[in-house]
Amino acid sequence: MVVDGSGGAPFRADVGVRGDRIVFVGPRAKERGAREIDADGLAVSPGFIDGHTHMDAQAFWDPLGASSCWHGITTVVYGNCGFTLAPVRDGERELVVANLENAEDIPRESMEAGIDWRWQTFREYMDVVDGLPKAINHIVQIGHSALRTWAMGERAFSEKATPEDVEGMATELRDALAAGAYGFTTSTIDNHHLKDGRPVASRIAGWDEIEALVGVVGDHGAGGFGVTVDSKDPDAFARNAQQLLDLAISTRVPVTFGLRRWHLQDQLELLDRAAGHGGRIFGQSRSEPFSHIMSFKTPLPFDRLPEWRDVRSQPIDAQLRLLRDHDVRQRLVASAEAAYASDQLSNKASVHPQDQMPAFSELQVMRHAIKRNPMVTDLAGERGVSPVELMIDLAVESDFEQVFGRFTGWADQDLRTAMKHRHTVMTFSDSGAHISSILGASIQTRLLADWVRERQEFTLEEAVRMLTFVPARAWGIPERGLVREGMIADLNVFDPATIAPGVPVVELDLPAGAPRIKQKATGILATVLAGAETFSNGEHSGALPGRLLRRSLF
Ligand SMILES: [Zn+2]
Repeated sequence: MVVDGSGGAPFRADVGVRGDRIVFVGPRAKERGAREIDADGLAVSPGFIDGHTHMDAQAFWDPLGASSCWHGITTVVYGNCGFTLAPVRDGERELVVANLENAEDIPRESMEAGIDWRWQTFREYMDVVDGLPKAINHIVQIGHSALRTWAMGERAFSEKATPEDVEGMATELRDALAAGAYGFTTSTIDNHHLKDGRPVASRIAGWDEIEALVGVVGDHGAGGFGVTVDSKDPDAFARNAQQLLDLAISTRVPVTFGLRRWHLQDQLELLDRAAGHGGRIFGQSRSEPFSHIMSFKTPLPFDRLPEWRDVRSQPIDAQLRLLRDHDVRQRLVASAEAAYASDQLSNKASVHPQDQMPAFSELQVMRHAIKRNPMVTDLAGERGVSPVELMIDLAVESDFEQVFGRFTGWADQDLRTAMKHRHTVMTFSDSGAHISSILGASIQTRLLADWVRERQEFTLEEAVRMLTFVPARAWGIPERGLVREGMIADLNVFDPATIAPGVPVVELDLPAGAPRIKQKATGILATVLAGAETFSNGEHSGALPGRLLRRSLF
C-alpha cells in the first residue's frame, strides 16, 4: 500500500524509481526494475523528516545519523536552539563548543577529538558539511549563539549588542542564507547555560537584536526562525507570545518553537492567533514524554558518592569484578541507600537528567520500548532485595547492558492534544543531543507503534503525513514529503503491524570513548534515499547518498 504523505487513503500501487526520482506511481508498472522490493502487505511512504535535531557535532563522526537513521528518517534539520559550530573564528572555537557542551550535553572531548575544524564562516562550514559522507540528508540553520560570538567575541556572553555588532551579525547571516542555510535559530530559555553557569550567548540579546536578525531573514525572502521559549511563567510567556506574533506578522518569516509542557493551551492559542492574523507560527510536538535513561555504562547519580567513585572510575571489567565482591557491594549499597534516603543523590542546580535520581518506584527496568516495563521497586520486591541491590544485580547479570528509564514531564492527554493541533508538527526529537541520557530518536516509530497501532488515536495515513509532508511544508523543503511522480525518491517500506522502537542500549563508541544511547527499530524493511537503498531491516547497505540540502529561493 502506498501511504503517500498527503493524508489521503492508502492505495495499492507500484512505485517506480529512476535515478533519484519517483517516475511512476500507479497500478502495474510496465517496466521492471533492476532492483525490486516486494511491498505486498506493507506500507510505502515518503522518508520521514525531523525538523528538530542537534546532529551538528555528530555529523562529523557518524555518517549514518544514528539513532534517527534506524527510525525511517531520511532528512534531519539541525542548528536548532541557537547552537551551531559556525561561524567561528580561529582561536574562538572554545566559545562555540561551550555553547553546545552544556546546553545540549554533547561531550566536549568528543567535539575536540571528532571534529575537523576547517572553517570560519557559515558558508565555509556548509561546504565542509557538504563534503561529509552521509546516509541521510542534512539541513543546517545558523545559530544565534555562534553568530553573536562571531560578531562580539567574549562580549557575547555579557553585553548588549551595539549597532555595529548587529550589523556584523546581519552581514554573516545574509551570507549564510545566500549559501543555502535554512533559517536562523535562537534560545531564550533559562536552562540553556554554560558549564560555568553563565547564560548561552543568545540569551544576552535584547529583543530588538532578535527582531533585526529575523528581519534579515524576511528580507532574504526565504528561511525560517526557530526559537526556544519558556512557558513556565504564564505572564512572561504572554509577553513573549505577543513579541513572536508581531514578529511573525511583520516579517512574514515562519516561526517555530518546541512546545513545553507548562501552560500548553496558551502556547496552542498563540499558534491559532498567528494563523488568524496571517502569520505562521507552528509548534513542535512529541509522541512521548521526556526520558531519562541510565545504565552502568552512563554516568549514574550514585557516582558522586566517594565509595562509588572509586569503583566507577575503573574500567568496566574491573567494575564487574568489584561489584561481584560481597564486601564492596555491601559498602556501595549502604552508601547509596543512605544518600537516597536523605535525598543527596540529586544535584538540584543541574538541568541534566543524569544528575537527578528518580524515585525507584518510577524507574523502569527497560525490557520493552513501548510496552509496560516492571519498575525497579517491583522487581526488587520479587527478588527480596533492595532497589540499589537490584540495580547492581541486573547490571552485573547483563554485563552492564541493562538500561533503566524514567519517562516524565508530559501527560498522555497533553501529548495527544499537542499532536492533534492543526498548527503543530510531530518532530522535536533532539536527536544528537543529550546522547547519554535522553531518548528522542524513536518518536517517529513510537507514533506509528503506540499512537496508531496500539491506541488507534491516529490513522496510519494521518501519522505518515505528520512525519513527512507536514515537516516538509513547515521547513519549506521542496520535492520531498510525498510519494508522487517527479518527487525525490526518499522512501520507507515498513510493516504497520510490527513497526516499533527497540529497547535502547548504551555504547561507548563516541570519539574519546564517551557513551551514547543507541536505539534501533523493528518493522522497517527498507529505507531508500534518492533512489538508493540505504537501510534494509536496520542494517546499513553501505550506500551514502545523503546530501546537504541547501535552501533555494524557489
Ligand atoms: Zn533543541
